[in-house]
Formats: sequence, C-alpha cells, structure tokens
Amino acid sequence: DIRVRFCPSPTGNPHVGLVRTALFNWAFARHHQGTLVFRIEDTDAARDSEESYGQLLDSLRWLGLDWDEGPEVGGPYAPYRQSLRMDIYADVARRLKEAGHAYDCYCTNEELEERRAEARAAGRPSGYDGKCRTLTEEQVAAYRAEGRSPIVRFRMPDRTITFTDLVRGELTFTPENVPDYGIVRANGAPLYTLVNPVDDALMGITHVLRGEDLLSSTPRQIALYDALIELGLAERVPAFGHLPYVMGEGNKKLSKRDPESSLNLYRERGFLPEGLLNYLSLLGWSYSADQDVFGLDEMVAKFDIADVNANPARFDLKKAEAINADHIRRMEPKAFTEACLPWLRAPHAPWAPEAFDEAAWHAIAPQAQTRLTVLSDITANVDFLFLDEPVHDEASWAKAMKDGSADLLRTAREKLAAADWSTPEALKVAVLAAGEQHGLKLGKAQAPVRVAVTGRTVGLPLFESLQVLGRDRALARIDAALA
Ligand code: GLU
Repeated sequence: DIRVRFCPSPTGNPHVGLVRTALFNWAFARHHQGTLVFRIEDTDAARDSEESYGQLLDSLRWLGLDWDEGPEVGGPYAPYRQSLRMDIYADVARRLKEAGHAYDCYCTNEELEERRAEARAAGRPSGYDGKCRTLTEEQVAAYRAEGRSPIVRFRMPDRTITFTDLVRGELTFTPENVPDYGIVRANGAPLYTLVNPVDDALMGITHVLRGEDLLSSTPRQIALYDALIELGLAERVPAFGHLPYVMGEGNKKLSKRDPESSLNLYRERGFLPEGLLNYLSLLGWSYSADQDVFGLDEMVAKFDIADVNANPARFDLKKAEAINADHIRRMEPKAFTEACLPWLRAPHAPWAPEAFDEAAWHAIAPQAQTRLTVLSDITANVDFLFLDEPVHDEASWAKAMKDGSADLLRTAREKLAAADWSTPEALKVAVLAAGEQHGLKLGKAQAPVRVAVTGRTVGLPLFESLQVLGRDRALARIDAALA
C-alpha cells in the first residue's frame, strides 16, 4: 500500500514550489491508488499562523487536490496537526535518549560558534564535534549548576549512509558530513528534524517526495528511522525522491519572496486550477515529447516518479500563461461563461451591478473564450458593454483619432446607420466600404471605430462587439466621439 504525504508548515502565503510538491505527491498517490496524507507541520509557534493554515486548506481545495487523511477528513492517525501531537514527540525523544540514540547537549551557541570557527581554520569539518556525547556525571552536574538547559541531540552512527533516490539514483553520505544534530530545543520544543520523520514513521509513509532543499536532511532522517525501527516505532525506512529546484529570474532559485511565486497571484489573475497545475507539473516532469497541454486525469494516468528529471527546472511565466490559455480554449462554453462571472461582478467590475447584462455577456463570451490568457482579462475586454460610456484612455484616443479619422468616422457612421445589424458580416461590409472611400484598408478603417465604441485600441473582434452592443448605443458613441 502506497502512502505519501504533503506536510507544509503554515507560514506565509502558499507558493508555487509548495503546490508543485503537493501536486507530485497527489499524482503519485492517485496513479498508484495509494493514500495521500495531508499533515500540518506547525510546531514552530513563532512562525506558524492560523491564517496561513486556513489559506493552505483553501488553496488545495481551489486547486482540486484532495487528500485521504488529514484536516477536515480525519483518518486513523489523527490528529494531523503536529501542534496537537506534542506528547508523542516528547515520549519518542525520551525513548531515543534511554536507548542511547540521543543525548543532552549543554554547549552554548557561543561555544559552538567558536569551535566551528577553529575547525574551519584548521580545515576540519565544522559540524558538531560530539563534545557532549560522553559527559561524566560531574560535568553534567557542573553545567546544571551553571544554570544551563540542554538541547537533545541525535547521535549519528559512525557509518556511511547510502540510499537510492527515486529521482537522482544512488547517493552516499559519509559520517564527517552528517554530524549529530539537535532534535529538541532547550525549552523542550521538538524540532522539524524529529517530528517530521517520527510522524512519517508513525503514519506508515512509504514514499517521501519533497524538494531538493531537504536532501541534506535525508541521511539524518534515515539514521533516525533505523533507531525508530530498533525501538519498534517504525516498520521501514521510506523511499525518498527529491524534486528538482525551480529557478526564477536570472537563473536564481525561485524564492518564496519572489512575487511570481505566490499562488494567490495566479488565483487573482484568473488562472484555471487545471492550467496552473498543468504548468507546474512540467517543473521537473514531462507528459510526452510533443504534448505540453493535458488534464489532471491524463497526468495521473501517466505520472511516474522515475520520469522526474533531476536537473533544475526553469519557471517561465509566459509558458504558464500559454498553457492556461489552452485550458481556457478546452473548457465547456457554459463552464467558461460561469467561470468569468466573478470578474464581471464587484469588486472587479468597474460598472454598477445592475448594468451587467447577462444576455450580452452570453452573446460575446464565445469571442472571449478563444482569446483570453487569464480570466481576469475579461473585465477590460467587455467593459464597453456595461459602462455608460467607453473608457477614455487619452493615449488610445490620440493614437486612433489622427488627422482624417473624423472624416472616416463620419462615413463609417453613415454606412453603419444604413446597415443591417443582424449579422456582424454586414457591419464589416459597412466599415470596409467607409475605408474604401478614404483609401484605407480594413485594419486602419476600423481603428477609430473601435476606439469610439470601446475606448480601446485592442479588444475582441470589432463587428461582433458592435452587434452585441447594439445599433443605438454604438451610433451614439460614434456621435459622441465626433462631437
Ligand atoms: N514541513 C516541511 C516543509 O514545509 C516538510 C518538509 C518535508 O517534506 O519533509 O519544508
């Protein structure tokens, strides 16, 4: 039985790296008909927040990534919030100490820093030097008398650790590169280094798929697992697969602080969950050599962790938008019309709520569906239908209303007034004829008409737009532009 987990810490806003990890775990679980455990790693009271916790749940729900065990759904290993599992960690830490796998360490930060500097200067490895591994009772009593409170440190075995990463193959870590490490703070608070593998063990996790930034903690966790197995607390060491780094601008690692890494940004811009997930799946994986656009079901059917590439992936906003655009094209027309509604209403819409005309929206929607990149663009594309007057952007007006434009507009107005408004083709014929009279091709001839009617130099196809706006309103706008 395959059991994987997604275990974010609720700090800050969800970012794309986190979503990519969630997605790969989800796809892996679904492909193998396994179980996805969603666990909240909130043992750091200073950094975790309820708000961030709420956002995590909301984000996964919006993306459509469901989980089989975790918050809201429960499960056999509840609770799935680590802040509610503190007794478990205290008990495991005590047992690790009793069995000699961990020990109290009284070194202060200053002492550690000093010895690290010495080691570096002498060209020795600068990790913890094991000083407190073998304290005598007298030394302990002396430290205590000084008022020192110890941290708990895990005793790394003196052996090379090798494992086969599901993405990067066999990896080997020698003891001098993996020193003893802290698992409980001096105030008794357990650290990520303890709680993460302990819960993976207790929750029967079989595969750990996570970012490459966590690779250095893997040999420590494997050693801790071995200790937990010895204590009867774990059954096995899980398999590990580390997903490649995601690089942003200037080939630097995409950081949580980069604005383009914020999930909310994509939501607010009107990315479709499927479009965004499709794009994020390509950060380290590919569907096939000649197909970049696919649905989640297709991803699940094909997903194989062995196909994940170890090389850093490049985050490319343009490509994300192009893929999202393809997903917009693939929508059922009805689903598209409905998905745009939030952007056609307050607070996004600049028109009064009663000005929104559902029939007009339905009539123009097919034009928008073949052209939008993100749903939020819909507002500016259809505002001419719902505003009393078209937007008036000085630069656009100046660009379109050059010398001679007024004459052209006057002719176009005449021809349009005489045209049959039941088809966009007839309106096109009218503007074509006006252009001909002034020696202008269609593109040049329609520009002033477009600005007069929509206020913009670019937008949805003009003749469909005119028709949906209606004869009277369209002519009145041309009149206003000529006045
Ligand atoms: N809570 C850890 C994080 O958010 C989880 C890391 C892991 O997957 O082991 O970085």
